[in-house]
Amino acid sequence: MNIVILPGDGIGPEIMAATVDVLEAASRRFDLNLTFQHDIAGHESLRRHGATVTPALLHKVKAADGLLLGPMATYDFKDEAKGEINPSKFFRKELDLYANIRPARTYPGLPIKVADFDLVVVRENTEGFYSDRNIESGTSEMLITPEVVVSLRRITRKCCERIARSAFELATMRRRHLSIVHKANVLKIGDGMFIDICREVGREFPDVRVDDFIVDAMMAHVVRAPDRFDVIVTTNMFGDILSDLTAELSGSLGLGSSLNAGRDYAMGQAAHGSAPDIAGQNVANPFSLLLSAGQLLGWHGLRRQAPAFVAAARAIEQTAVLAIEHREATVDVGGALGTVEAGAAFARLLLQG
Ligand code: NAD
Repeated sequence: MNIVILPGDGIGPEIMAATVDVLEAASRRFDLNLTFQHDIAGHESLRRHGATVTPALLHKVKAADGLLLGPMATYDFKDEAKGEINPSKFFRKELDLYANIRPARTYPGLPIKVADFDLVVVRENTEGFYSDRNIESGTSEMLITPEVVVSLRRITRKCCERIARSAFELATMRRRHLSIVHKANVLKIGDGMFIDICREVGREFPDVRVDDFIVDAMMAHVVRAPDRFDVIVTTNMFGDILSDLTAELSGSLGLGSSLNAGRDYAMGQAAHGSAPDIAGQNVANPFSLLLSAGQLLGWHGLRRQAPAFVAAARAIEQTAVLAIEHREATVDVGGALGTVEAGAAFARLLLQG
């Protein structure tokens, strides 16, 4: 498997270096023959190539088996005409990575304020309330007068159907419970259609139990009793917000992993941003990106029917549990290690099996 590595901004290079070390360990233990193509995106690419991402980079990613994207300083990138393109949006749109799979769970030994839980947020990734990806050209946020802004949201049958199917398929591999999260009490047409299509697709999966929750009430439910949930499917913006909450509930945003998956391509990416407040200090938790890399290996294994990759993905997940339990981790999850040391400890634990 050939993976393109883009370290990104802020803490990106630190957590990516630890992740590559762990992937090398996984490759050795499971005989995966992983190879890496290192390249740049974000601020460094803007400095060197005049754009945060380039057509040549896209070409390289399309020819590879997977992409690992480090966190980006998205807020800095305001003008696409100046090459300031949001790399996450760019790859999600260009590679049609419609499903954003964001697991969150508790870890033994890591104190939290809620009951133990293990859930996955499945977030639509290619339309919704995202002005940079829901129209063919330009942006769907408009300055009508200096004091009036209109921001549009797009919801389509095709995108609802495919995200619903991804979520049901995942639910069949887990505890067979799917929760639809929406705001159909206000967005009656768009979210009404989203619920209807999810339930329609659900008829193909009769052994999956389905319920639905209004997004604002869901915030309370998930804080009060996250153990009630298994797979949660929702539209783009709601999924973005809800999955940061579930990552933090699991103990730290530094545990928030994600996979952006489409039919032909996938991209592992931490759920958080570039964390400029802690960049360069060797304190960032690399587990978010490590676990995302594990998800990428799992996706490849299922797609190519390669059990060694699925086993490696599972081992990465189990190693995270072990590392946290033994406090071989960064400060945010109860350890005392720096980013470099936490990555090295993880690679050692993974190799020990
Ligand atoms: P952030 O997610 O970068 O950080 C929020 C808080 O969580 C900070 O206190 C940070 O120190 C902490 N944190 C994040 N990751 C951590 C880790 N691995 N270990 C320990 N602590 C961690 O959010 P922000 O500060 O609002 O945004 C910074 C930049 O990231 C902005 O430019 C924003 O647009 C961008 N962003 C990018 C992505 C992405 O690339 N997918 C996602 C969210 C935000």
